[in-house]
Amino acid sequence: MVFTFFLVLLGACQSSTPQHSISTSQIQEPTRTYATQHVILVVIDGVRYQDSWGDSTLANVPRMARELVPQGAFHPQFFNQGETLTTAGHVALTTGHHQKIENDGTEIPDFPSVFHYYRQFTGAPASKAWIITSKDKLEVLARTSSTEAAAAFAPSVNCGVNGLNTGYRPDTTTLRVAKQVLARHQPKLMLINLREPDTEAHEGDWNGYLKAIQQSDRLVADFWKWLQKQPRFQRNTTLLVTNDHGRHTGRRFKNHGDNCEGCRHISLLALGPDVKPGTVATRARSQADVAATMAELLGFPIPQRDGEPMTELFQQHALTGE
Ligand SMILES: [Zn+2]
Ligand SMILES: [Zn+2]
Repeated sequence: MVFTFFLVLLGACQSSTPQHSISTSQIQEPTRTYATQHVILVVIDGVRYQDSWGDSTLANVPRMARELVPQGAFHPQFFNQGETLTTAGHVALTTGHHQKIENDGTEIPDFPSVFHYYRQFTGAPASKAWIITSKDKLEVLARTSSTEAAAAFAPSVNCGVNGLNTGYRPDTTTLRVAKQVLARHQPKLMLINLREPDTEAHEGDWNGYLKAIQQSDRLVADFWKWLQKQPRFQRNTTLLVTNDHGRHTGRRFKNHGDNCEGCRHISLLALGPDVKPGTVATRARSQADVAATMAELLGFPIPQRDGEPMTELFQQHALTGE
């Protein structure tokens, strides 16, 4: 029956004019309305909102506040809605799902990440998607226990001193590596983790924690400046700057991991050619929306994600026909 129908269809095609036959032009391409060609996600580890953007003097994020916010979109109501730990926060950002996951790099994310889906749907090689982190344990972000085909499309990694179980490295090293990788491979998608605010806080060193936030502020502001000087990345790169989690409210800044406001409340800053400059977002958003937003900008789908693209941060461009 099916076979007969197929023969009839085939006969109809053969006897008809060429425009009735199936051609590649009938396969729907996603309608690209964004100028973004590269997306870089910077995650500053363990910064509490009240010690950064929530402090009215902005004393610890002066460069980002002065140089980046006027050209970017800032999100004051941005939250970690899952486990307020490093690995879980990063997994929510990269997969769009909240997963209770071991925090020491011994457990693999259940769902494929935005990096896996990017490679799966575009056919891009691993050199076009990178996870570059100061914390070695975050190498697990490149993996997934999903049985889906997406698991075969792992991104490239450069994590910690020399990969999983080799220890943490300085944030300045991580950023230097990120620039080298950008220059060499021109990746489309990248995650960078800066860990020093979290480490200093865990040591109970309040001044060290604040200095580490200030260093992150400098590193991100200088990184954005650098990107705008690179012919391959200027005016076509979206930078998202956020956190994996905050820290306990009040004087308990040393640790984190529960549901308190200090642990949950983080921030998001977006910069790039599609961002509406000077936007201050009003709708509350969470980490689960980040993967969907990265995919939206680059025009590929993330099946089964919990989050939604943060389109309120972006302006739509007319199609240029390029
Ligand atoms: Zn921590
Ligand atoms: Zn807490």
